[in-house]
Amino acid sequence: MKVLITGGAGFLGSHLADAFLSRGDNVICLDSGSIAKIKHNFDNPRFTYVHDTVLNEAMVDSLVGQVDLVYHLAAVVGVEHYVADPYAVLNVNINGTQIVLRAAYKHNKKVVFSSTSEVYGRNPKIPWSEDDDRVLGSTRIDRWCYSTSKAAGEHFCFAYHKLGLPVVVLRYFNVYGPRLDALDRGRVVTIFLGQALRNRPITVVGDGSQTRCFTYVDDAIRASVEAGLREEAVGRIFNIGSDREYTIGDLAEKIVRLSGSQSEIVFVPQEKVYGDSYEDVPRRVPDVTLMQQVLGVRAETPLEEGLRCTIDYFRKQLEDDEAAV
Ligand code: UDP
Repeated sequence: MKVLITGGAGFLGSHLADAFLSRGDNVICLDSGSIAKIKHNFDNPRFTYVHDTVLNEAMVDSLVGQVDLVYHLAAVVGVEHYVADPYAVLNVNINGTQIVLRAAYKHNKKVVFSSTSEVYGRNPKIPWSEDDDRVLGSTRIDRWCYSTSKAAGEHFCFAYHKLGLPVVVLRYFNVYGPRLDALDRGRVVTIFLGQALRNRPITVVGDGSQTRCFTYVDDAIRASVEAGLREEAVGRIFNIGSDREYTIGDLAEKIVRLSGSQSEIVFVPQEKVYGDSYEDVPRRVPDVTLMQQVLGVRAETPLEEGLRCTIDYFRKQLEDDEAAV
């Protein structure tokens, strides 16, 4: 089988490419970003890398025409971008998705769309199942532009599904692991790890009682592969995640302990980190029944075990970076 992964050089995309390559499939990776996470596949004759943006409609059309299955992951992701450059988030995420779906419809290729737990916003009814409401703040709060962009993408998926296109929507819950973002940047795990490995203060936003369900990347990828392969997944949405809930305060303590760091944990007001255009999500927990029943996957990697692998990866990266200076 031949698989196109848009955003295939990113965190999830690079792991998804590895998973399909190890099944013996062919992978085309379309990405406009850094090659750091995929260069280990450059010698593999079943791996093709195309450096281009998902907004290049002619390129997307040509690549979609060559494959059996499309994973659309190319997107602007990360809270720092939602508040710093909402235009890029909305433009790439909404227009990129339309371009991919238009090509998939033309060539009749199944699309697995990478969405997000952020779609549920701050719905207080926990846990969230796939048909639950979206509860978002004002459009004056830039944080919600990502949620809105992905929800628009989901609507486009289901509009095309009505026209006969096979689509699957995956909502990821705080996936972490090796190759996540880069130390000090992106999501909370890499920010805390950058601080812990350098023995700097760990910046917990607010009082640290907000919760997340951290999902180890291998679990998320197993579910994602099944979503592409299983006929019964078509036309559905799946929460992809663990349902073990941790506070951000817990996460900070675990990272300090597991990395052997000297860091102290400090509490900082959210405006100081993200400015006025940010609102936090107080609790985020998926109902994972559908993932388990239809995709046959449980996200069972314990947080401590996943964090150990992630810490080992980033510690080595830091050592390599320091050796290169
Ligand atoms: N967070 C934190 N300190 C930081 C960065 C993030 O306490 O330096 C918190 C953030 O306020 C949120 C949680 O960690 O409650 C997860 O943030 P992330 O940016 O990873 O993504 P989110 O889950 O909010 O989409």
